Amino acid sequence: MRPSILYPLFAPLETLSGIGKRYCVLMNNLCGDKVIDLLWHLPSGFIDRRCNVPLSQALDGKIWTGKVRVVEHAVPKNKKQPYRIVVEDNTDQLILVFFKVFGDSITKQFPVDAEKIISGKIEIFNKQLQMSHPDYVVDASKPEQMPLIETVYPLTAGITNKMLNKQIFQAFTQVPELAEWQDEHYLVQQKWPSFKEALWVAHHPQNFADIELSSPARQRLAYDELLANQLSLAIVRGRLKTQKGRSLTNSGELKKKLLSVLPFALTSAQKRVIAEIESDLFSEYRMLRLLQGDVGSGKTIVALITMLNAVECGCQAAIMAPTEILAEQHAETISELCAKIGVKTALLTSNIKGKARKQLLHELANGDINILIGTHALFTEDVVFKDLAYAIVDEQHRFGVKQRLSLSQKGRFCDVLVMTATPIPRTLVLTQFGDMEYSKIDELPAGRKPVTTTVMPLSKMNNVVEALARKLQTGTQAYWVCPLVEESEKIDLSAATERFESLQKIFGNNVGLVHGKMKEAEKNAVMEEFKQGRLKLLVSTTVIEVGVNVPNATIMVVEHAERFGLAQLHQLRGRIKRGYEAGSCILMYGYPLSSVSRERLNTMKATEDGFLIAEEDLKLRGGGEILGTKQSGFNNFRLADLSVHSDLLLTASKDAALILQKDPNLQSERGQALRTLLYLFEQDTAIKTYNAG
Ligand code: ADP
Ligand code: MG
Repeated sequence: MRPSILYPLFAPLETLSGIGKRYCVLMNNLCGDKVIDLLWHLPSGFIDRRCNVPLSQALDGKIWTGKVRVVEHAVPKNKKQPYRIVVEDNTDQLILVFFKVFGDSITKQFPVDAEKIISGKIEIFNKQLQMSHPDYVVDASKPEQMPLIETVYPLTAGITNKMLNKQIFQAFTQVPELAEWQDEHYLVQQKWPSFKEALWVAHHPQNFADIELSSPARQRLAYDELLANQLSLAIVRGRLKTQKGRSLTNSGELKKKLLSVLPFALTSAQKRVIAEIESDLFSEYRMLRLLQGDVGSGKTIVALITMLNAVECGCQAAIMAPTEILAEQHAETISELCAKIGVKTALLTSNIKGKARKQLLHELANGDINILIGTHALFTEDVVFKDLAYAIVDEQHRFGVKQRLSLSQKGRFCDVLVMTATPIPRTLVLTQFGDMEYSKIDELPAGRKPVTTTVMPLSKMNNVVEALARKLQTGTQAYWVCPLVEESEKIDLSAATERFESLQKIFGNNVGLVHGKMKEAEKNAVMEEFKQGRLKLLVSTTVIEVGVNVPNATIMVVEHAERFGLAQLHQLRGRIKRGYEAGSCILMYGYPLSSVSRERLNTMKATEDGFLIAEEDLKLRGGGEILGTKQSGFNNFRLADLSVHSDLLLTASKDAALILQKDPNLQSERGQALRTLLYLFEQDTAIKTYNAG
């Protein structure tokens, strides 16, 4: 339960005065619908209105603030002309310019001879000082109403900076005094303010240094958020670690048999990670390990070999893939090898229905099936194992934490391996999994072909199509990936359909189209035709991102590559690495191309090392975007920015471990304060979710 001291912060925005329904909707899109969301909405800059030199010294293009006297009004002859008001101080005159003036509001606001303090941008025309639409006008008797430093926030249509400043000021009145949760010595050493003070300074910058993400206030806030994240992960992790599992120790007969029928030798990286996983499987404790390996690094075999440990112990194992295509591909590989060593496997997807499904579930429940391969269909309630000891989740970032846990719940003390082809930088692994056990296949099997990557503007599309036509004639196949349009699958789709139609005019029946809105069966049918070589060119949205293996397809064109995440581009490119010949990847970009985007594309051109690419992407874009946060389920921090604060993350990780070592149940005085911190950053829900496992 959230402590009551935090209630005001988690109250709905409507509870603040002056925030109505319509405004709430806008605010919700901008930052969230609770008071605390406003406070987490940190400024991007500020406007300094402190310049109040005499008018004669005011500078062109700069904000000027000062006391003036109204001299006269120049009423325009027609509505198209602006309304002008002449004002002056002791040194010079200034013309205030207003477009679209209605009624007499302006004469009321600026009676002749009245004294006003105004602030706005100075422009100089023909030596004449002008200011169009002053930002602020206050009575000379109320100078306190002029904000000398105006904080600037990221905005959205319908919300002005003035409104936001007001609301955030109001929200701030709801911030309670909270007991310090950070280590006092560390605070002193870092010269960080208290939480409340840091929040105040962050919203009221006095100079440019205060805006910097590396300022003491911003660092303090980032560290609070990171510590909450690391602490909650460490709590969960600690609980899992002390949970008794069961040991899957065995003589390794099945593994030996499998290795003897395997058409290749394992790479040394594969051998190493198998040993790491097995040491967990053999131990008395429950395993929760992450296996990272680039596309094509051979994770499936690692999965299979380690699953044989469960089988040899008389238990069952399951592997879950994010799509049917992938599940089928796993099933093909695994069942073929397993058939040779007398291990029974089965594939369960939503396509398997009726009698076949019933039969399968029966065999699963009585233990005839040793290894089950499937999609999220494995989660269905009626799927009951006789004795599931080991569950593997492939391509994890597409599944939520909940799903991951619900599979492990189908077994008794089930060991869990999470596999991902997305190279995740160490820092991001920390934010998602905490100090989770972690294995990495950092070597590709021999014989992989390099891919040449070219970067060019969309304006060269015709040349690309011509070159493509020549290559397709020699029998090569190719992928054509269409732009990702954020937030809208519909637009994605129309872009892909349009491209498909225009390419069809050139390549006729040799072109196929797959996209996310197609039925699984339709999609599979097109993929199959591509696999069989009846289709030469496959136009797609990113649905082909994961897993598809067509060795004859060695060319890939990506339209608007600048809109993709680097990790995503890397995955896409991985598709053409397993080919009969060296691959060729053409990344086409549209204008305008920012310098960061250009750098990112150049990174793709320069290296094929997924881990390097991921690190680079993290540096260039920050953590939130790296995996396309929405589908990735990766943490999107609100106050911390991993491109700047990754060192703090490492410290927070160590700090969290130390805290729990000294005070495992957070009972001490600081422990209690830390509990408040967890609730402040809404880690309560995370903890509950994890507790369920
Ligand atoms: P991923 O890590 O992307 O899941 P896969 O497990 O699908 O990779 O393996 C990609 C391909 O490499 C498969 O065809 C697999 O049979 C092959 N492979 C795996 N390990 C080796 C190896 N040690 N030597 C040669 N080929 C291998
Ligand atoms: Mg795979």
